Amino acid sequence: AFVQMEHTQKLSSIGRLAAGVAHEINNPLAIINEKAGLASDLMELAKDFPERDRFRALVDAILRSVERCRSITHRLLGFSRRMDVNIEQLDVNDVLKETMSFPEQEALHRSITTSVSLDQAMPRIASDRGQLQQVFLNILNNAFAAVPDGGSVTLATWLRDPDTVGVSIKDNGKGMSDEVLRHIFEPFFTTKKTSGTGLGMFITYGIIRRLGGDIAVQSKEGAGTTVSVFLPVKAAPTATLGS
Ligand code: ADP
Repeated sequence: AFVQMEHTQKLSSIGRLAAGVAHEINNPLAIINEKAGLASDLMELAKDFPERDRFRALVDAILRSVERCRSITHRLLGFSRRMDVNIEQLDVNDVLKETMSFPEQEALHRSITTSVSLDQAMPRIASDRGQLQQVFLNILNNAFAAVPDGGSVTLATWLRDPDTVGVSIKDNGKGMSDEVLRHIFEPFFTTKKTSGTGLGMFITYGIIRRLGGDIAVQSKEGAGTTVSVFLPVKAAPTATLGS
């Protein structure tokens, strides 16, 4: 099955709502964090309290959950805040190679084969290095999470037409059902029970849209997934304006 960016309007209003909620939740979270910390400090003084260890374990559990909430709200707010778009002329192959060095250790450790087929005759594109790294890293992380040890991840770049550069990240991992594929760009949609936030593809989608690009995901359950990103050679008007 195949999914492309759609329901653009709907997703951006979901994004705004999510960011609004994240912002509102930040204050009470900070209070919970502070009070739990104080309660823990107070327990330091109550040396004779028989349930001290149990109390501490409870407070620690609260603090850990608060931390998880905070990492979610920070990611959401970081994404929705008017990101400074920093457009420069860059080589997509370089950005991709830089990004690939991040999960190198994991690749070695899990015997994952990464192969690259980069078009060397690629024009430079007007885009944002940091944001493209974020996009490629999000997609690579998902690919790594999907493949078994010994699996493979293949990267390719090519010139789709004189105005558009294509980048694909293909894995031979577990793939997705049509149902999962349908929801992949929605915020908080995840199938990773404890480790996922469901924000990776949502953020990826937002960045690519801002840069004037497009993303398509093709997947087959049990066979693997190919994520293709298309980027304009010339900067998109929205990216230039930084909106
Ligand atoms: P997260 O990784 O935190 O779950 P994402 O938004 O990055 O959030 O991905 C959402 C869901 O899409 C994942 O939980 C997973 O089910 C599915 N997914 C994304 N990329 C892949 C992939 N390469 N292979 C299989 N499933 C994927």
